[in-house]
Amino acid sequence: MQHPCAGDTDFQHQSFLELRPIAVSLQILGVCAWLASLLLSHPYRQIESGSTLLATPAMLGGILLSWQASHHRTLLLGMLLNLGGLSLAFRLNFLFISEPGPWATSVAVCIILTMAPVFHSTRAFLLASIGIWAMLLQGTLADQHLWGQSSWMALLIAVSMATGLMLNILFRRLRLRGYVLRRKLEVLAFQDALTGIDNRRSLLEKLQAWYPLQQGYFMMVDIDDFKSINDDYGHEAGDQVLREVAMQLNGHPDIDLCGRLGGEEFGLFTRKTNRVQVTTVAEELIRHVNACQVQQRRLSISIGIVYMDGRIGLSTALRLADKAMYQAKQAGKNCFVLALPDSHSTRPQQAIQTG
Ligand code: GH3
Ligand code: MG
Ligand code: MG
Repeated sequence: MQHPCAGDTDFQHQSFLELRPIAVSLQILGVCAWLASLLLSHPYRQIESGSTLLATPAMLGGILLSWQASHHRTLLLGMLLNLGGLSLAFRLNFLFISEPGPWATSVAVCIILTMAPVFHSTRAFLLASIGIWAMLLQGTLADQHLWGQSSWMALLIAVSMATGLMLNILFRRLRLRGYVLRRKLEVLAFQDALTGIDNRRSLLEKLQAWYPLQQGYFMMVDIDDFKSINDDYGHEAGDQVLREVAMQLNGHPDIDLCGRLGGEEFGLFTRKTNRVQVTTVAEELIRHVNACQVQQRRLSISIGIVYMDGRIGLSTALRLADKAMYQAKQAGKNCFVLALPDSHSTRPQQAIQTG
């Protein structure tokens, strides 16, 4: 498995899916806080028209854009639009209070620290924070004695930016760690540890998903006399044979799905719908496995094949393929049997042998 990193597009998409509902909720919270501040700051006045005309559409547009976003860039755009609108709205609101400086500073710190974990990109977070400080402090501190305590202001800005930065990095790391663990679990749950191909669960899930859409042939493959390979050459050699056979089966260009069903049994699916073509594929698979050896002993497989055209269920198809495979065993192994079910019967209609 390739080690995922922060720039991984799949990680970005997973992050986006996790962050979108949080970002939208926080933006709604911001608007609610602004509405409450309107009531607190000037309950008897008209709402300042500039805020209604400019800030409100920006805030609501940002929420809508974030809500509708299908990509992390659109989400970022929505967040920036909302934060711009929110900062402007608060800024206009402060026109109605006598000493806006401390409030503007508190609001800026509050917005920055709340939004810090929601930004996927640290650079975007820093730019947004600078914008928020610029919008909220511009004009609100000019006549205030706070400017006289400029070193305190600088310290406050620096500490809040640094804390926001740390929160942003920490949360992104946590998301990355969760993503890596999830990917590892997916591999453990869906990949056969010995051969590296799909395991039974994965193969059957894929077949289930494909089956209604795709027609083709399912093949049940079983290694011949595998127990004696284990007995004669040891389990290590047996494992190596499993890996080798899996590679041959999975590597065939006409095989679209390949998984280990368990033990020395494999399930294959080919989208080839022509009988002559699937016969050629089965012959090639047997030939390729025959070319592999364990201590000068030629390997062989038996194959049961069934046509999957949507008329029979997946479990019936597996049962028919299994039955056909055992017919191939009974016919002397190192061959295949093609079972063609009709709509009334589950008995194989025709058997072709090779080998
Ligand atoms: P047939 O030709 O009829 O298929 O006979 P066979 O010996 O291949 O089949 P049988 O079912 O008698 O034996 C299968 C063996 O596969 C028994 C089991 O110990 C071995 N086996 C199952 N899983 C593994 C595995 O992961 N590694 C190894 N080395 N052996 C395994
Ligand atoms: Mg078997
Ligand atoms: Mg076997």
